[in-house]
Amino acid sequence: MAAKRDYYEVLGVARGATAEELKKSYRKLAVQFHPDKNPGDKVAEEKFKELSEAYEVLTDPKKKQMYDQFGHAANAGAAGGGGPGMGGFDFGGGGGVNDIFGDIFSDLFGGGGPGMGGQRGRTRRRGRPGADLRTQIDITFEEAAFGAEKVITIPRSATCETCTGKGTRSGSEPETCGQCNGRGEMSFQQGFFAITRPCTRCNGAGQIIKNPCGTCSGSGTVKKRSQIAVKVPSGVDTGQRLKLSGEGEAGEHGGPSGDLYVVINILPHEFFTRDEFDVICEVPITFTQAALGTEIEVPTLEGKVKVKIPTGTQSQKILRLKGKGMQRLGSYGQGDQLIRVMVETPTKLNSEQRELLKRFDEIDRESTHPMHHKFFEKVKNLFE
Ligand SMILES: [Zn+2]
Ligand SMILES: [Zn+2]
Repeated sequence: MAAKRDYYEVLGVARGATAEELKKSYRKLAVQFHPDKNPGDKVAEEKFKELSEAYEVLTDPKKKQMYDQFGHAANAGAAGGGGPGMGGFDFGGGGGVNDIFGDIFSDLFGGGGPGMGGQRGRTRRRGRPGADLRTQIDITFEEAAFGAEKVITIPRSATCETCTGKGTRSGSEPETCGQCNGRGEMSFQQGFFAITRPCTRCNGAGQIIKNPCGTCSGSGTVKKRSQIAVKVPSGVDTGQRLKLSGEGEAGEHGGPSGDLYVVINILPHEFFTRDEFDVICEVPITFTQAALGTEIEVPTLEGKVKVKIPTGTQSQKILRLKGKGMQRLGSYGQGDQLIRVMVETPTKLNSEQRELLKRFDEIDRESTHPMHHKFFEKVKNLFE
């Protein structure tokens, strides 16, 4: 496959284009390359897909930010593994193209998709699709490193058990809607396109409930606190979201369920921070340890490890423990642990210590502190 084109180039807009400009340009090109207008034209089909992908990324603030920062690599890294719906971005699979097309065109022609979840696909299914849900989970640094099974409780609508989702009181059946003959939608021809809108009489359900279920008032769904198991893959980072397909709000009248997005938040750790898959640990050492060299014990994700501090170690020096970092999400191997050495300058000296240090300083400053010596030699000569 050829190298991917820049998304801004694909959409024919400048970097920093406004949402309005993106939309305008997308509409124009989408109409030009739409498969309905170019039947059997493979080139147009590819262009249309490319266009839709570019539009999807650049209109999603989070994806756009990642793309602006990392380019196509932002997607490539996470797409590799982790299994379906696990970590990284959830760039839509098969349905993606139609989703956007449906959205923008229902918007264009004033239709307005049903439900918060938006219309999925262009062929209407019976029943209103459930909305997508979004929730956040807090996990520890260790859980992010090793992966975890978490159970979250969220309020969401679930299929009503009294009527098994039908929405009718027991013994009665829903009636087929006379206006749309049960199809749930009405079609109009407009230029090249057949525009379909939800039926106004039955609100797209295709049926009318004369005798609604007492538990759910006819919607077929009830609000419920549901417990959901979430598998957190090792290597996740704050802000990444996991997609749990079909775990959103239940659809009404047999419509498909929405999806649940779980946003990861990693709680602060006593010792560690991270940089991608590297774990960083700041370790304070005394200035005599730094000067004489020593061996110290530092925490890692897998327990304590002995580390040699070489003679003459400077503050901010980074020592690297290979492979002691985070599991690389969707890939093999682990990052490293970086130990940032911080030399602690002694404070609250007693008189004996002060005397010793003064004597130390008088002995041979030039050879013990070459950087210091050179710097001030240069400063001295600066204006001579
Ligand atoms: Zn109808
Ligand atoms: Zn019910």
